[in-house]
Amino acid sequence: MENCLFCQIVAGEIPSQKVYEDDFVYAFQDIRPQAPIHILIIPKRHISSAQSVTDSDTAILGHLHAVIPQIAANAGIAETGYRVVTNVGRHGQQTVPHLHYHVLGGRQLGWPPG
Ligand code: 5GP
Ligand code: ZN
Repeated sequence: MENCLFCQIVAGEIPSQKVYEDDFVYAFQDIRPQAPIHILIIPKRHISSAQSVTDSDTAILGHLHAVIPQIAANAGIAETGYRVVTNVGRHGQQTVPHLHYHVLGGRQLGWPPG
């Protein structure tokens, strides 16, 4: 999708620090990490947010979830644990309108979020 930041990252038009890629999914370091490990995992196909997910997305999102354990293991946080979160819309403080899952770890995280 034109002018979508994360679509441009997938296309290589904007540089990113890749940690994982396959035909359907791309994962990269967050530019402003909120924890020692802060990775963003996105579907390559543009989906605006979790609010836009439909049945046609179930295969790709199931696959995205299935690669999280490998990404977490490679990042060294599989044993200590981590958080997977997706922000939706204004109250969710979503700032990039391309569905993305934050993977946060490497320190004790607080709960609930503010
Ligand atoms: P959101 O606030 O939408 O849940 O998360 C968007 C995330 O994208 C933020 O954590 C922000 O730091 C990250 N981000 C924004 N612009 C860029 C960028 O150009 N490159 C990378 N790697 N991350 C970005
Ligand atoms: Zn996009």
